[in-house]
This record gives sequence, structure tokens and C-alpha cells, in this order.
Amino acid sequence: MNSSWVPGAAGSGYDINHLPYGVVVPEDGRPRCAVRIGERALDLDACEAAGLVLAADSLRWENLDRFLALGPAHWSAVRARLIELLGDEAHRGVVEGLLIPLSSVTQRLAWTVADYVDFYSSEHHATNVGQIFRPGQPALLPNWKHLPIGYHGRAGTVVVSDTTVVRPCGQRGAGDFGPSRRLDIEAEVGFVVGVGSSPGSPVAWSAFADHVFGVVLVNDWSARDIQAWEYQPLGPFLGKSFATSVGAWITPLAALESAWTSAPVQDPPVLAYLADDRRGLDLALEVSWNGEMVTRPPFASMYWTPAQQLAHMTVNGACLRTGDLFASGTVSGPSPDQVGSLLELHRGERYLEDGDTIVIRARAGDVELSPVVGTIAPARFASQ
Ligand code: CA
Repeated sequence: MNSSWVPGAAGSGYDINHLPYGVVVPEDGRPRCAVRIGERALDLDACEAAGLVLAADSLRWENLDRFLALGPAHWSAVRARLIELLGDEAHRGVVEGLLIPLSSVTQRLAWTVADYVDFYSSEHHATNVGQIFRPGQPALLPNWKHLPIGYHGRAGTVVVSDTTVVRPCGQRGAGDFGPSRRLDIEAEVGFVVGVGSSPGSPVAWSAFADHVFGVVLVNDWSARDIQAWEYQPLGPFLGKSFATSVGAWITPLAALESAWTSAPVQDPPVLAYLADDRRGLDLALEVSWNGEMVTRPPFASMYWTPAQQLAHMTVNGACLRTGDLFASGTVSGPSPDQVGSLLELHRGERYLEDGDTIVIRARAGDVELSPVVGTIAPARFASQ
């Protein structure tokens, strides 16, 4: 089966080879788990209630938390069944009535974000930022090629695509408080953890697919003026924590099997716990600013892989929890039209205005990741 019987699914980026999971709220107001097929959502609550899909009743919950916790064997079985239901015309009579047009639903954050970690894994981005902020010094700090740099973000302010982002206020320097004047984006790729781990036990890079369920696009909104004033010595804080937007639909890893590619060779060699099989994902990102496509960041160029990030963030024994989100860091490629932030695109001369809309998209072959959209609303208070 190469294509679904659902009208419009073929060629849409959301055919049966994709089937991303989300939470939709139809006109009756009750949120339910769904998969996207073309421009429709298949109601998984109704599917499981009718016995068409079996997932230990996890899909009858208000979000994907219970399904994420079930693990890879259940994820595979449900996916195989959905491919049957949506691919084989024989099931059309039963399934068609459980499809909901996307035009008639709103979307919620598909899962409860447990912990949120953001990495800094693009060599090109780290180099560009180093050159901008520390001119005349080595662009990369001495630790950068020895470990995937990251920090813990604010899980409670991760929002679903299409949520309005209020311009943050804060300290822009000594005695200077007000709305950020240097509001920026960071185009990133995020990984959603399904299966947790035990405290004290590191998770090996090779166990990536035992724990990680899928992928979402991320916009790590960043107030550069607040960030520049606050970040030393402990790292990002209020310049980042006001909002992080993620795509509405989680693309399961199973839909990206043909997107794995060779990640860049690492020099110097890394420690044994980070010595992975150099598999990166070939996702072609695009960023649009008020409808104009401004940059195309290539995720395949990332120096540190998602599996290395997972191994590193648990090597001290920190456990994973269902719903953890870890993001790649800004995706920037080697050329100026491949950067993932406005800081790099305009060298600090142009940032977001109120009313501006940013859309981050990505494709892997004929799989279109769910876009992450955000529009800037004016600050809620001007001075303090
Ligand atoms: Ca970031």
C-alpha cells in the first residue's frame, strides 16, 4: 500500500507513510487523540472505542501521554493497523465516518511536556554566534567539540503551533527595563521521549529508538537583548523561557526511516559513550517571515546527533520521563541562506516586529513535518 484511499492524502506530505499524532478539538469541545491523513484527522478515541485499534485504551485519553508511555512494540502495532485501515479500501466504509476535516478543529499541545532540554548542536550556528558575540576570539569555545552543549528550558511554556507569542519584557541592560527590541527565532528540531528510564542508569545512544517516539519542529523564540545581559555565568533564562513553539503533530520515528543519513565526521574523536553510528536526519527546513521564505536550514549538517544528545543528557544518571522534549539547537548550515536565526540572517540589524508571523516547515522526501507557526503580539506592559 503506497497511498491512502482518503481523498487528497496522496502527494500531500501526510499520506499513510507519515501518519503523525496529535490532539484535535472538534466542534463538540472534547479533545481527542488523532492521526493526520491529508487534510483530515482520524479520531483515534472513536477508533479504539470501536475496537478498530487496540492500544490499552491509551488513545481514549485527552492527550498522547498514555500512548507515548506504551513503548515501541505498541507504537509499531498501532501504526501497522492504521496503515491497514487507511490504506485498504476494504475498511473505508467503517473508517470514513471517523475522519474529521482539519478545517473544523482546533489543536492542542499533543502531550504533556515533562522536562525540556535545548541543545546547541550546529557547528555553523555556534561558529556564527561566536563570531558575532566574541569577535577576534576563537569562534568555538574549547568544550564545544567534546560534548553536546545544552541547558534546561521551561517545559511549562512550550506551546502548540499557532499560539500567539506576547513580546517579552525584561532587563535589556543595567537599569533598562522594557519590551525586548531584539526578538528573534531559532529554527530547531525537537525529539519527544515516550519511554522513561531509571534514575542512576545512563541511556546508551544505541537505545535511542527504545525511548524516543517522534519528532516535532521547534521555534525557540529568543529575546537577544534580555539574553545578552543575563546569560553569564549560568546560561539562558528569561530571554528564552517566555515561549517555545512546537508543531501540532508529532511525526513518529517510524515515518522517518528513510531520512537517516550520515552525520558529519567528528574531529577530535569523542568519548566512548558519545561514539555513535553517526546517523543524522536529512530534514530540509524552511523559514518564512511574513510569507516570504528567508532561509533553508539543513538538519543533516548538525554536528551532534539526536542519539548523542540523548546519551549525553542521561550520562550522569539523570532519568528520562514520558513527555520529555529535547531540541537540537538552532539549525544553521554552512551558507548565509541556510541559517536558523535572524541574528545570523541580518547580523543583528533586523528583528521581529509586532504582528510578524514566522512559519518553520520541513520535509524529508514526501513526508512534510507539521509546521510551527507563531505571530508576535505587542508587549503587555511597556515599562517598570
Ligand atoms: Ca535554542
